Formats: sequence, C-alpha cells, structure tokens
Amino acid sequence: MVRISLSVITKLISGKKDSVQIISTSAAYLLSSILTKMNRSDLPNLFENSLHIPKVAWKTGTSYGRRDGWSIGYNKRYTVGVWIGNFDGKGIPELTGADMATPLLFQVFNSIDYNGTGNWYQPGADLDLRYVCPQSGCVPGERCTEKVIDYFLPGMSSTATCTHLTAYAVDQQETISYCTACLPEEGSQQKIYENPPAEILKFYRENNVPVKIPPPHNPLCTRLFEGSKPRILSLMEGQEYLIEKEDPRSLELSCAVAADVTTVSWFINDNFYKTAKAGDKYFFSPVEGKIKISCTDDKGRNSDVSIQVVFY
Ligand SMILES: [Zn+2]
Ligand SMILES: [Zn+2]
Repeated sequence: MVRISLSVITKLISGKKDSVQIISTSAAYLLSSILTKMNRSDLPNLFENSLHIPKVAWKTGTSYGRRDGWSIGYNKRYTVGVWIGNFDGKGIPELTGADMATPLLFQVFNSIDYNGTGNWYQPGADLDLRYVCPQSGCVPGERCTEKVIDYFLPGMSSTATCTHLTAYAVDQQETISYCTACLPEEGSQQKIYENPPAEILKFYRENNVPVKIPPPHNPLCTRLFEGSKPRILSLMEGQEYLIEKEDPRSLELSCAVAADVTTVSWFINDNFYKTAKAGDKYFFSPVEGKIKISCTDDKGRNSDVSIQVVFY
C-alpha cells in the first residue's frame, strides 16, 4: 500500500509588481510554445469537446530515487504547482511527475479555469518565421524532403543545416560501413542512412522507434575516429552531489553515443570500472571528494566529467 501526500498550490499571478524578467519575451514565448506541445491526458479525442479546456504550458520533474514528483503549469491567468510524495521522503517505484502529478495538475486547471478567456502569450516583435526540417528543427538540408514553418530568433537561433540523412559508403550486403581511409577499391556502394544526434538515437532505441542507421564501421580500419564523443548524461560537470551517510545512494552512469558505437568503457578516477552496452545504465558507490568519470566508446573517443561528492 502506498501512502501519498498531495499538496496543490495555486496562485493568481496577474498584476504582481515585484517580478523580475530573466529571459526575453521572445525566448519565453518559444519556451511556452514548446511546453504546450506534450500529449495531454485530459484532452478528449473530439476537438469540439476541448474548446473550453484551458491551454496550459507545463513541465514535470521526478527526483532521484523517485522520492517525489512535480508538475508545474501556467497560462496567462494561473500558475499551478503539484507536488506528490511521502513526507518521510520514502521513494515509490511507480512515482513520476508525468504519471502522477500531471493528471492532478490538469484537474486543478480544469476546475479553476474551465471556460476561461483562452488568451495566450503573443510572439515578440523580434521573432521571425522560417522553414525547418521537422526531424531536427534545423534549416532543411539537400536531402530533407519535409519542411514545416517554425518561429526562430534571428541572430540567436542556430542556423545549422540538417544532416538527418547522410550518405555512407557500405559493402553490398550493408553490413560494414567505410570511411575514405578504408574504402576498398571496388565492391562498395553509397547508401543514405539516418544520422540522429546521440541523445535522439538513445530515445529512439529506448522507445523502439525504427531508425535506419549505418552498419558498424569496418573493424579493420586503422583511422582515428573523429566525430561525436560519448556524452555522459547522468552526471553534470562541476556539480556537487550530496549523499546521505545513513542511507548512501549510488550514482548512475549512463551516456548517449554515436550511431556506430556498441559498447563503452567507464573509468572512475582513471581506474577501469566496467565495459558496458552503450545504452544501459550502471551504478557505482562513490567515495567523498572530487571524482573524475570517463567514458570511452569502442572507437576510442572519450569524454570526462568531474564532480564533487559530499556526504552529510
Ligand atoms: Zn532533415
Ligand atoms: Zn574507416
């Protein structure tokens, strides 16, 4: 049996005078647009039935160890925060902000703002419109077939061209890919493959989204690989990690890697710790003090982060 405490805080924010602007109107507009585009559990399938449901931008969070979950939402009239957890801090396996706090957030919004004005924020004058590739949000490249119109901030938003489809040299069976250093004189062919960034590839794999990535690189190739280094996702450079002496928790090792990587090796303070499948999560028990974590992929590309561990 799970005992859950719930606290709901609502606050009318209009007319508040002591607020401080921390990001530009246009950046806030873009962020708010992104935060309204998630699937909403409370929306009926028929659009006519959803006309009176308040528009809300929201973001969820789940704490380490699933001790509590948050969901905070806002529109022009209200900001609502929902917190769910045990008051004694005990974690619950099924507790996430998205699954447990968000449905309550929308129940609150639907109670206090149903049939509201529906007024939404206006884009700032410095925002402009352009075509982007929907696969990446970047300026469409020569191979991108779809285009959608999207807002951008001239001089601020990235102008990178989309490379989500890239040509690779492969063998006839498409089991090996080649670079210019190891391309055989005959028997290869050019094929187009998807080329998602490491974090997106990780998401596709975890959610079983089919993605046509190039086959592994020629194992006989002697070239030193450039390109995407593994990115350590679970630990942040320069951050302090507080660990309870009474109930010490492990720290997670997880990373995102380039499409050509199968395994990674983890090192803690330059000592070998484990070789692991690239997509898997592992845990280690840290000692107090400064710790260097290194992740090396099977092409020899390496990333480090340094963290501080404090026991209390
Ligand atoms: Zn594209
Ligand atoms: Zn090669």
